[in-house]
Amino acid sequence: MGSLTLRTQTPEQTRALGAALAGILRERDVVLLTGELGAGKTTLVQGIVAGLGSADHVQSPTFTLIREYTGRLVVAHVDVYRLARIQDVVDLGLEEIGEGNALLLIEWGDAVQDILPPERLRVTITTFDPAGSDDARQIELATEGPSWEARWGLICTLANAGSPA
Ligand code: ADP
Ligand code: MG
Repeated sequence: MGSLTLRTQTPEQTRALGAALAGILRERDVVLLTGELGAGKTTLVQGIVAGLGSADHVQSPTFTLIREYTGRLVVAHVDVYRLARIQDVVDLGLEEIGEGNALLLIEWGDAVQDILPPERLRVTITTFDPAGSDDARQIELATEGPSWEARWGLICTLANAGSPA
């Protein structure tokens, strides 16, 4: 497992990182996005979806739980923050989206990791100032599983999309 830590200074830089990440994502990939409310998880997803060539407007799925976007890949965007039970996540029927081939982008993924495939990219976003006056974010990309190991070199090229932490 490799891990890489980047820093962005603005929401635009976080979207640019997401767009760069989109270039190395494939069908059925699982990306777990962890971080406090307001850290920038949905902002990163906006960049990923745009980078996949979709013009869809990405909003937080907090109240709808799941949203679907279509670009180069079909994307299932899930926010499990408000789900009380693991069963609720299973009931979403993630495997039916995109005929089972969707790229899964899951906010607050730690809560569901036990029912997801063991291969995933874990993205952890950290805010330096919880009061919100500092736009800097630390973004850690950690790979888990062989399919990600093979893409480690590509992940490292993403460092160009953000400044080293
Ligand atoms: P989350 O999905 O983690 O709750 P959002 O992406 O919805 O967070 O919100 C992040 C908020 O922080 C947005 O209002 C965004 O504009 C702002 N922001 C400020 N700086 C950054 C940054 N460097 N990266 C991402 N978002 C940032
Ligand atoms: Mg969000």
